[in-house]
Amino acid sequence: MSIRVRFAPSPTGWLHVGGARTALFNYLFAKKYKGCFILRVEDTDQNRHQEEALRPILESLKWLGLDWDEGPSLQSKQLKSIGPHAPYRQKDRLAIYKKYAEQLISQGKAYYCFMSPEEEAQQKAEALKKEKAWRVFSPYRNLPLKSAKENIKQEKNFCIRFKTPQKTTDYSITDLVRGKVNFPGDSLGDFILIRSDGYPVYNFSCAVDDSLMKISHIFRAEEHLSNTLKQQLIQKALGFPPPETSHLSIILGKDKKKLSKRSGAESLDHYQKEGYLPSALINFLSLLGWNPGTEKEFFSREELIQNFSVNRLNLSAGVFDEDKLLWLNGEHIKTLSEIDLLKQIKVFLQEPPDDKILRKLIPPLRSGFKTLKQAAQTIELFLDKGFVIQKEAVQAVLRWPKSKTVIEKWISWLQKFPKTHLNIEDFKLFQKQIQSEEQIKGKEFFMPLRCALMGRPEGIEIKILIHLLEKNQLLKRAKKILNL
Ligand code: GLU
Repeated sequence: MSIRVRFAPSPTGWLHVGGARTALFNYLFAKKYKGCFILRVEDTDQNRHQEEALRPILESLKWLGLDWDEGPSLQSKQLKSIGPHAPYRQKDRLAIYKKYAEQLISQGKAYYCFMSPEEEAQQKAEALKKEKAWRVFSPYRNLPLKSAKENIKQEKNFCIRFKTPQKTTDYSITDLVRGKVNFPGDSLGDFILIRSDGYPVYNFSCAVDDSLMKISHIFRAEEHLSNTLKQQLIQKALGFPPPETSHLSIILGKDKKKLSKRSGAESLDHYQKEGYLPSALINFLSLLGWNPGTEKEFFSREELIQNFSVNRLNLSAGVFDEDKLLWLNGEHIKTLSEIDLLKQIKVFLQEPPDDKILRKLIPPLRSGFKTLKQAAQTIELFLDKGFVIQKEAVQAVLRWPKSKTVIEKWISWLQKFPKTHLNIEDFKLFQKQIQSEEQIKGKEFFMPLRCALMGRPEGIEIKILIHLLEKNQLLKRAKKILNL
């Protein structure tokens, strides 16, 4: 069997964590079994579709490295579809859906329905009054096709409905994660396939395309379980074998509520701008709903592909833990080569200095980097432009009685210091001197000195930073602080 999976976003906004996780699981499965990863755009809901949202979604996927084998091409301005089943944008496939809807009509498995929205609303209201679950009952279910065509000729508004098989027993579907899932036999009415505006509903276009595009497996969120039932009924009516499905568990925030911006989750674009690495995000997302079966949490892309397996998909919800993402990002940063890290940090620097300077600064500081943005901010602290004084915090320290002495002594010691750079041993000599001559030590010594070094009382350890600044820079900084 050839493995063919798809990610099928409906462009209504940015690519979010949940969508990215769905795309990732499809991608990992395709790569593991040397299959095909397809990108299909579900853009037939005219009320919700936002054309301008599509390119950013595709760019986020590309940034994550989830390259698709068939689908719209980012290379083309119009996002032209490439692949044997093109077009991959549903709005360009309307004739196909029409053809299959007509096939179902001619086979008596679907029908033209002329109910007005008011009639439908009335049915709903009556069911509500009787406290009964509502499902549509169309008086046109058994209207002879000839009469229906007459109505159409007279330009009556119509939609196309599926003639849902009437059952007395439960429906059931088989899911690779959840096993057999039952739905009450009376839970479905004659749902719409093609709306009165000629556009297909999601369940119809999705079912048709999954079949025509020869999709073998579907990984998507749990909330689609009831759609799967409808899609499989459609596929059965059309004579297509349904793909295998795996419904992924929901993702919750740390507060155990449905994931949202408030629970910390943002669009992929946000993580890119904040300096997260795609490899870290992929690693993090993979653990939301899949469990490797060991304590191991750090995975490279290749390891994920090798280890991914459907029988390790979880039933229980994944919890989105921002702190874990940040930790993983730091771990992934540690694996970058020096050249790669330098290149990536440069993107985040306002005014990147010469590579020579970066090559000196990055190695001693890199173990503290959690994001590329924070790495760039740390590096900027060592550039003359980056010597930004945290005024309030510094002034508070400078009000201490011994602060001025510390800084004055530091300046005069530096002026006499014979070399261009000092190391931690040199610094310790100064520390000893001020301790014996002025009896200043501990916080009273370090805090004002830190202000003189970095313009803030807290931060990177002195033993790391001291040799990264030249004597001249140190002097300039100290004098500025003294002036304050
Ligand atoms: N367009 C649907 C969505 O964005 C896709 C669901 C599916 O994978 O079938 O939710």
